[in-house]
Amino acid sequence: MQEPSHHRLLRLMKTLTSIGDTFSDQYLASDFQAEDTIWSYVVQPYSPNAYYLTDRNAVVIPLAFLSEPYLFDDVPRYITMAALGTTIAHELLHSVGVTGFYFNSAGELHSLSEDTEHQLSDLRHCVRHQFTRNLSREVEISGLLFSAQPNGELTLDENLSDHDGLALAWRTYHRWQHRHRHSPEPRLPGVQGSVRQTFLLALAQTYCAKVAPVSYITSAEVDTHLPNPERINAMMRHFPGFAAAFGCPVGSQMRPEHQCSPIWLPL
Ligand SMILES: [Zn+2]
Repeated sequence: MQEPSHHRLLRLMKTLTSIGDTFSDQYLASDFQAEDTIWSYVVQPYSPNAYYLTDRNAVVIPLAFLSEPYLFDDVPRYITMAALGTTIAHELLHSVGVTGFYFNSAGELHSLSEDTEHQLSDLRHCVRHQFTRNLSREVEISGLLFSAQPNGELTLDENLSDHDGLALAWRTYHRWQHRHRHSPEPRLPGVQGSVRQTFLLALAQTYCAKVAPVSYITSAEVDTHLPNPERINAMMRHFPGFAAAFGCPVGSQMRPEHQCSPIWLPL
């Protein structure tokens, strides 16, 4: 019997991912210097996809990210901070996330104290298990049902950056808001809800996507990010500011009894 096309696609994606890992290992093992980087090979200015380059310790924010609909000139700061600030925080936090802890400020490998290792291991354990809990979903393709279950280990680095990135952008905005408390920002015309609710909605909107079933399965199997809409929901479930802004009771869908603590910014 011929292998269904989505199986072939999935196999191809897995192969490409493993080839990519091999190349990046070889690249990292070389003594290539940062100034030799041919940036036009690694950055597409028209692509709204920001990322962190581990081997360069560099955050890449393409021009598309600094244009509409991510960056508007005439919107309150909480919209910009939600859409763009959270992304920049996410990328910066990659440098101190899963692997960044093991490098000192000079980029050299160093070991952590037993205590720090222990604390980190607890925080990671929570995100590894709780972010992907109950995310199993049945997806129908050509009349067949497939079970998609995102992998907590594969998505750990991205989930940690999402978790801390949201907390960092939120705190940054509230510090700014406090400094400018005598001239509060306006609400958006026609949008019901408080400034805090609108901040969270603006962030959620950047992850809005219509995902075809095959793309969803592929993303759940091989992507280091959680698929949409699970990614934004997981982020919000473990963010106390969301439950407070929308009045979600403990134990409800969007406010689990146990929320993971961010690594850098205990709330
Ligand atoms: Zn990321």
